Amino acid sequence: MEACINVEKEIEKVLSKFGAFNDHVYRTLNELLEYVQNLQKEIGEAPSTNEVTAAQALILTQCCKKVKDVVASMATEHRDLHGTVSKVGKAIDKNFVADFASTSNEEVFQGTENAKLLNQVISEHFLRQGMLDIAEELIKETGLQMELQKKEPFTELNRILEALKRKDLEPALAWTKCNRSKLIEQNSSLEFRLHRLNFIALLQQGIFKQEEAIAYARKNFQHLASQHEKDIQVLMGCLLYLKQGVENSPYGYLLDPVYWEEICDIFTRDACALLGLSVDSPLAVCTNAGCIALPALLNIKQVMQQRLVTGVWNTRDELPIEIDLGRKCHFHSIFACPILRQQSSENNPPMRLVCGHVISRDALHKLANGSKLKCPYCPMEQNPSDAKLIHF
Ligand SMILES: [Zn+2]
Repeated sequence: MEACINVEKEIEKVLSKFGAFNDHVYRTLNELLEYVQNLQKEIGEAPSTNEVTAAQALILTQCCKKVKDVVASMATEHRDLHGTVSKVGKAIDKNFVADFASTSNEEVFQGTENAKLLNQVISEHFLRQGMLDIAEELIKETGLQMELQKKEPFTELNRILEALKRKDLEPALAWTKCNRSKLIEQNSSLEFRLHRLNFIALLQQGIFKQEEAIAYARKNFQHLASQHEKDIQVLMGCLLYLKQGVENSPYGYLLDPVYWEEICDIFTRDACALLGLSVDSPLAVCTNAGCIALPALLNIKQVMQQRLVTGVWNTRDELPIEIDLGRKCHFHSIFACPILRQQSSENNPPMRLVCGHVISRDALHKLANGSKLKCPYCPMEQNPSDAKLIHF
């Protein structure tokens, strides 16, 4: 943040200089123009037979000199601006780190198998974002084998989302109808919300759509009534205000365009949950997490270099410091062993002891004495082989 402020200061300097220069140039040029035009007028008014007098010739020479001087001084001023502009570049170099090599582990992407995985993640990201042609091209160029089954859900979701953005609810409604039972299991309100949008669109057209609106409600809200009773009552209340317009009723808030915006998010969330996909693309999540972690990693890099412990970082499959990515990036429960004070991993998973206390497997091995283990929390003695692996 501080880096941004520093660069911003330089940019402000440039802007204020440009502003001043602009005003000054505009004023000077106008004055000059006026002066030349007056002179031209004077010469034009003189009869064409008249010869130029010595005095007039002098004035003309002076005028030429003046123009030249002004242009030269402007060129100098303009050159001065370059200095301020280049200072911005220097401020960027000084305040931002361009070398991220030390914070990345290049081995991760080495080897054909890893490169293939990387390409796959990128292609899936493009598919998710609806950039189907880019994804197709990447799949073709990298020779990835992506089954049609894998592409199909993305293609369909994007088609529906595009339609929703155009305020066309039909594809989304057809989709919810096909997946109704699964959506109900998920406690999703998607279908109701879609019908509500359609219903409100009818109400907005005024009293002559009354019958159509009632017919629509009868047909589409009945099976949703148990779940959305209150909301449906509100919608029925709107019918009373058809004559004066829903916008002039206490239900005017229902016309808020935000309902159209949120329907895209709700559709994405519910459809992804139904298909077993995460809402955000894994690539986007990784990139965002990396951006949050980067400043802290760059800071720690300096400390580590000073203490000559850089090697420690590269040999382990974990970061040298804990970085909090915020609630948004909490996906799984984590377990930290209270004995070893380490996060559990695949190689060192949490183990539940007979007494109910949980420690990591490494700790269990360390504490075990042959076939005997004394729980470090309660003194219960047990056989270490009775401990059970816990999966989060
Ligand atoms: Zn215990």
